[in-house]
Amino acid sequence: MRVAVIGAGPAGISASLALVARSVHVTMLDEQPSAGGQIYRNLANVSAEQAQRLGSDYVIGKSLLKQLEQAIDNKILTSVSRASVWSVTEEKEVSWSIDGRSYCQKFDAIILATGSIERAMPIDGWTNPGVITVGAAQILIKTARYSPPSSVLVGSGPLFYLVACQMLEMGNPPKALLETQNNTDLLKAFIHLRPNLTSLLYLAKGLVMLAKLRFAGVKRIKAVRDVRIKSKGNAHIIEFSKVGTKRQIEAETVLLHAGVHPNIQITQALGLKHDWSQENHCFEPRTDKFGRTSLKNIFVAGDGIKILGADAAKISGKCAALALLADNGFLNAKADLSRPYRLHQKYVQIRKFLDVLYAPKDWYSCPTNNIVICRCEEVTAGKIREAVKIGCLGPNQLKAYSRCGMGNCQGRYCGNIVINLISEMVGQTPEETGYFRIRSPIKPVSLAEVANLETII
Ligand SMILES: Cc1cc2nc3c(=O)[nH]c(=O)nc-3n(C[C@H](O)[C@H](O)[C@H](O)COP(=O)(O)OP(=O)(O)OC[C@H]3O[C@@H](n4cnc5c(N)ncnc54)[C@H](O)[C@@H]3O)c2cc1C
Repeated sequence: MRVAVIGAGPAGISASLALVARSVHVTMLDEQPSAGGQIYRNLANVSAEQAQRLGSDYVIGKSLLKQLEQAIDNKILTSVSRASVWSVTEEKEVSWSIDGRSYCQKFDAIILATGSIERAMPIDGWTNPGVITVGAAQILIKTARYSPPSSVLVGSGPLFYLVACQMLEMGNPPKALLETQNNTDLLKAFIHLRPNLTSLLYLAKGLVMLAKLRFAGVKRIKAVRDVRIKSKGNAHIIEFSKVGTKRQIEAETVLLHAGVHPNIQITQALGLKHDWSQENHCFEPRTDKFGRTSLKNIFVAGDGIKILGADAAKISGKCAALALLADNGFLNAKADLSRPYRLHQKYVQIRKFLDVLYAPKDWYSCPTNNIVICRCEEVTAGKIREAVKIGCLGPNQLKAYSRCGMGNCQGRYCGNIVINLISEMVGQTPEETGYFRIRSPIKPVSLAEVANLETII
């Protein structure tokens, strides 16, 4: 049996290791230069000292990468890096591109572990040079040991505080954090807090990060809203209001973050069912508790199903692999998969707390008309509202009206905002509005590459 695992983050690596442990051959494909996904990005290439600075959750990845290395050395696992997967078919044919050349191979089963994407935060000035996402800043830190100077972070979410602390450890503390959550969010979130060990550990991690930032004297301004950025070269003035008072702060770099949501491009392109998550304000692929989809032998694992973080992603990867093995006779079909599933569920409760506390805010989820929503095609919120006024009812019709979602990112970045704007104007639920119809190639490839597609037998 040959299995393709797409994504070499904690979910993809764990799934691959569970499969090769049962002598199933795995081809693991990832667009990054080395395995690790988002959390363990570039871990194989950084020094022990640098890894320590980025925190224990980062260093932990070393043991997983070691196991992966051994499996690769034993030739039971093929890991293909720099491989950007642009098509996955119901017949389990996978096509990917490496340095301008494309390959295609048919597999018996596929596990999609493509992780998460940062949520768009369309505010005035978000497309200006020098305004990037918190995740992008972390990629610079992990791959180039570069931490943007005199930065102000705007937004909220676990990654927001983690990167602020990593910048601190890099000796370049942020100038200030402008936080969008307020005390009402905190009160609402407390309803979801349960005194179980996993939740308490998560809370403790968060409180330690906040204490580090306080001890380092990093300014935190909470309950900010209506943020807009005026830029001149690499000088930015960030205007914002807090309880009705207008204020401003200067920065050399502005880092935005409004949380993460599953990367659903491949699951959408496969035509799989998706459900709208009220908690995380996004579409999530519909699977059973082990990641089985409505297509036989196509599974989803990790943050690509639901955002639960790296530890849960590892367990989810293992669950998908065990279900695959059970469904294909490599495990007693009645094999008891309940234990890994119970472990995985421990992360759901604390996630509810985090999702409510750091829920996206209306003032940027349904921005004013002048704000660019589709960065690829420079379509503004006003253009989208105009299209709805003249009869456009959904994201796919909107493509014809405005080319919104037809650019290089194929709507993966603007999709959720477009859904919010249309749902609000038409007075329907995001589920009724639906998502962009995604077609392969889901990543840009040249016609020459497609014409010269090399089939691997
Ligand atoms: C920018 C960013 C930074 C993050 N940093 C952290 C962090 O420091 N700590 C933390 O706890 N959590 C972090 N997270 C959250 C992170 O999602 C999870 O913690 C964890 O990494 C999820 O594991 P996963 O295996 O499900 O997905 P991921 O780790 O996201 O791995 C998915 C992999 O799939 C690859 N991929 C996706 N689409 C394709 C394609 N079409 N072709 C080929 N490869 C593809 C991606 O490049 C990635 O390597 C981050 C999230 C983001 C978006």
